[in-house]
Amino acid sequence: MALTVVGSLAYDAVETPFGKRDRMLGGAATHFALAASFFDTVHVVGPVGDDFADEDLTILATRGTNVDDVERVAGGKTFFWAGKYSANLNERETLDTQLNVFETFAPKLSQASKDADVLFLANIVPDLQADVRQQCAAAKFVAMDSMNLWIDIARESLEKVIGMVDCLILNDEEIEQLTGAPNLVQAAAKVLEMGPTVVVAKQGKYGAALFTADDHFWVPAYPLETVVDPTGAGDTFAGGFVGTVAAALQGGEQLTEGLLRNAMAYGTALASFNVEEFGTERVARLTAEEIPERVANLRRITSFEDRPVSLRG
Ligand code: AMP
Repeated sequence: MALTVVGSLAYDAVETPFGKRDRMLGGAATHFALAASFFDTVHVVGPVGDDFADEDLTILATRGTNVDDVERVAGGKTFFWAGKYSANLNERETLDTQLNVFETFAPKLSQASKDADVLFLANIVPDLQADVRQQCAAAKFVAMDSMNLWIDIARESLEKVIGMVDCLILNDEEIEQLTGAPNLVQAAAKVLEMGPTVVVAKQGKYGAALFTADDHFWVPAYPLETVVDPTGAGDTFAGGFVGTVAAALQGGEQLTEGLLRNAMAYGTALASFNVEEFGTERVARLTAEEIPERVANLRRITSFEDRPVSLRG
């Protein structure tokens, strides 16, 4: 059983109030795979250029991730993204996006990647997401991310692919932009009408919210004293969330509310490690032993005793 992800493999230049990196390993598929590899065998599908270093391919292959479908484009350059964060890390400005090998990318999946039970379509052109969704006909659970750019310039294709997946994981403002609804509860309900049975709204440092037809569930971000670089937090969250679902489905479990809530906790815990250092640095050397304590703390933070209080009036 396996989990396939298609998305960007990148070099990122990032500046935060705590330092900068001119060129570090990044990309949505990279961050996703590093987190999801704690739960299942991950197959990564995406293009890189001649400049992609062997050491970075080794990092991508951490915890047994299969990199056979990482396509090295001769004469090409790896996708490059540059961003700068505001003083409170709440806002991010994109300074540069160089698509490079992504301009001509046509995903070619090996049979092993096509056979995956679970598929994550990271943020890429919606038509490519739809193409990969069709190639993975056997997938039992398919989740996807996207971004405001595609809502602006490729809405029709985006709506089509949203109708082909089980789960949409998107920033809360983008969910509101996508649906035109004035608040998240209404916006999530509209997405559920578009096809997915699960909607996860990422809310940055405020956490994440889960919506299904029967349930709403909210998890705060893990309370950290120090956040250094939020780049990739959303994809790391998705890796923990989708990875938890993949592991449970493999164990014969059904997609219950309990499972989805647990997936929210693991996604949140994984994302909290990601932001402690730049890029992939922390999650690449994270060990399985370090994760349960944060999940247990999240459970403690979010639970309370329902004691009756005598109310006046
Ligand atoms: P996140 O912080 O979770 O939104 O993910 C940031 C990662 O996404 C970085 O490592 C970037 O390389 C990658 N990224 C940024 N912009 C794009 C884009 N337009 N398409 C695909 N990946 C992107």
